[in-house]
Amino acid sequence: MSSVESPQPESAADRREALKEVLTQVQGCVRCSELAAARRNVVFGAGNADAELMFVGEAPGASEDEQGLPFVGQAGKLLEKLLVEIGMTRADVFIANVLKCRPPGNRDPLPVEIENCREYLYRQVELIQPKVICSLGNFSTKLLRGEQTGITRLHGQPQPLTLGRRTVRLYPIFHPAAALYTPRMLETLREDFARLPALLAMEELEQPELLEIPEPATPEGEPEPEEAPAPEAAVDEGVDQLGLF
Ligand code: URA
Repeated sequence: MSSVESPQPESAADRREALKEVLTQVQGCVRCSELAAARRNVVFGAGNADAELMFVGEAPGASEDEQGLPFVGQAGKLLEKLLVEIGMTRADVFIANVLKCRPPGNRDPLPVEIENCREYLYRQVELIQPKVICSLGNFSTKLLRGEQTGITRLHGQPQPLTLGRRTVRLYPIFHPAAALYTPRMLETLREDFARLPALLAMEELEQPELLEIPEPATPEGEPEPEEAPAPEAAVDEGVDQLGLF
């Protein structure tokens, strides 16, 4: 499903359908055998499939694994509160994680797990087409920037970033879980949040040129290959988990 191989759907409706297909794919993913065996639910991400603002956290915790939705615990409540303070709600944004499955005992994601899950996140970004991505904390900031500089140095500084076929403004901020019990960090997080509306009001960055992917030619006389039937039931189940608005 590499972004290079998949054609890019044009309309918002087609992008949403393609996102549901990625959801179905992730729900059946067993690339990380330990995570796949231990999970109760895949936590694909939820929110507005056409959002201008996307948040990327680290990995689901116990509550997220149980409910199949991201940021449903205390950190999620804080995230919602900070959104409301800038005049937004969860329904305006899309929230995802670097890992779609909970690491047992909430251990740190392993490099191989991050690598296994990377293309799902990139595909989400290509299909949702956000203008701004807030990376929450060190893990997602390091993954998205492909570099080891920490969040303490980078928070609150937007920078252009191209992920697959989408160029966004990356805006690293502290992870809300880290701000829960540290008032000074919460204050910094609030200040960084306050700059989001202005960032969202800026012009979209120029997008990378799309390379045309030619349709493979069907040799003359050979029948067209049959298309696999769409997995209707799985897609429909997916709507609830996505929590699309
Ligand atoms: N922390 C994260 O990074 N992601 C979640 O979904 C919940 C808590």
